[in-house]
Amino acid sequence: MDDVIIGLEVHVQLNRLKTKLFCSCPINYHDSEPNTHVCPVCLGMPGAMPVINKEAVKAAIKIALALNAEVQPFTVFDRKNYFYPDLPKGFQISQYDRPLALGGYVTIETEDGEKKIALKRIHMEEDPGKLSYKGSITLAKYSLIDYNRSGVPLLEIVTEPVMSSPKEARLFLNKLRIILEYLEVFDGNLEGAMRVDANISLKGGGRVEIKNISSFKGVERALSYEITRQRNLLRRGRVVLRETRHFDEVNNITVSLRSKEEEQDYRYFPEPDLVPIHTSELVDEVKDLLPEMPEEKRQRFIQQYEIGDNFAKVLVLDPKMADYFEEVALQLDAKLAASWIVDVLRGELNYRGWDFRVGWEKLRPEEMIRLLKYFVEEKITEKGVVEVIRTKLDEGGDIDAIIQSKGLFAIPKTEIERLCREAIEKNPKAVEDYKAGKKQAANYLVGYVMKVTRGRADPAETAKIIREMLSN
Ligand code: ZN
Ligand code: MN
Repeated sequence: MDDVIIGLEVHVQLNRLKTKLFCSCPINYHDSEPNTHVCPVCLGMPGAMPVINKEAVKAAIKIALALNAEVQPFTVFDRKNYFYPDLPKGFQISQYDRPLALGGYVTIETEDGEKKIALKRIHMEEDPGKLSYKGSITLAKYSLIDYNRSGVPLLEIVTEPVMSSPKEARLFLNKLRIILEYLEVFDGNLEGAMRVDANISLKGGGRVEIKNISSFKGVERALSYEITRQRNLLRRGRVVLRETRHFDEVNNITVSLRSKEEEQDYRYFPEPDLVPIHTSELVDEVKDLLPEMPEEKRQRFIQQYEIGDNFAKVLVLDPKMADYFEEVALQLDAKLAASWIVDVLRGELNYRGWDFRVGWEKLRPEEMIRLLKYFVEEKITEKGVVEVIRTKLDEGGDIDAIIQSKGLFAIPKTEIERLCREAIEKNPKAVEDYKAGKKQAANYLVGYVMKVTRGRADPAETAKIIREMLSN
């Protein structure tokens, strides 16, 4: 879509930190009673003084470095003035013309190859409180405010307007999320962890901003809706107004909120209660803490374990899955480990709505190793392994006990051979028929072995042995 221009502003909560951005209240607002993690600072009481959380600045720098951005040596907080009930101070402490970092990029894989999505800036700010409504926003008689979220550290990551389809926007967000998860300062599973404002314009139309979309699917749908809406307006010779719209996730449409506010409306000015930050020492400190990032890991997996890129690519999507693979691959053939983890375990976890963090607890790597060793030693069939994995995930229990109780231990090859010989001896008629050219008579003999073993013999393997025996 060459006439479409999309830029994103992504708000990311640094939600694996312990405390808020400017006070020492805990940030885990998800499972606590409303308005219990609050103090004069995050309630915006007059005279309360903010103090910067150094860990939050370090986490922000870590992210900026991982996104290839240039951390600025000197950075300043500003007041962004506007009124809303979730913002009791009447201003948000944010950053304006001296943001934490400039530039940077995220690489995505599109159908036409790799594309670098350039970033404009990355800045720190505080999350406002959270409004909630009994029932729906339009029908509720009143709204409730929870200030537990007020002051949670946020990073706003702004891209250049360089994406040209809703799909590219989704690919960018997916990749960004993976990078953030790697840095261990962000948990994407928590509600509100990543909220997106999307800017979209079509050639010849005004720029429309869609505010506060809370899911990746929502971003893609909202943008698709906007493209159709704006295209229809332009086709009919009408103008696309520059405005702010809201995405209605229930009806999958966007609705007009207000004409776009201008920067001057916010009356930005430097926050007088906070000192500017000189970042150079912190940058040095953080550089040493940067973990291996997905791209590096992918290359290393291909070289060190000699697995295909198709496996490496998937394994690095989740750092926990990558770790799981390494634990198993150190004890077994790496290709075997990769294929069981990517093709089977991942699918079984997905099916149950779990990621590898849960998977790790349900089927520990050492248990997976034991199970796959049985498979390599031909003590259990492929089908048997799958059944053990499923049982283990659904019911727990010990690997060996599951194999025993379900009778999944495979019958050794020597035993199968003995039974094949027995089948031949006991069924001279079938053997005669086979030798007379009735090839399907062999099925009768295979059936005998299957019956005696109650289906635990591998039918293809058994048929092969019988045919070999009969041709001698
Ligand atoms: Zn507080
Ligand atoms: Mn913001």
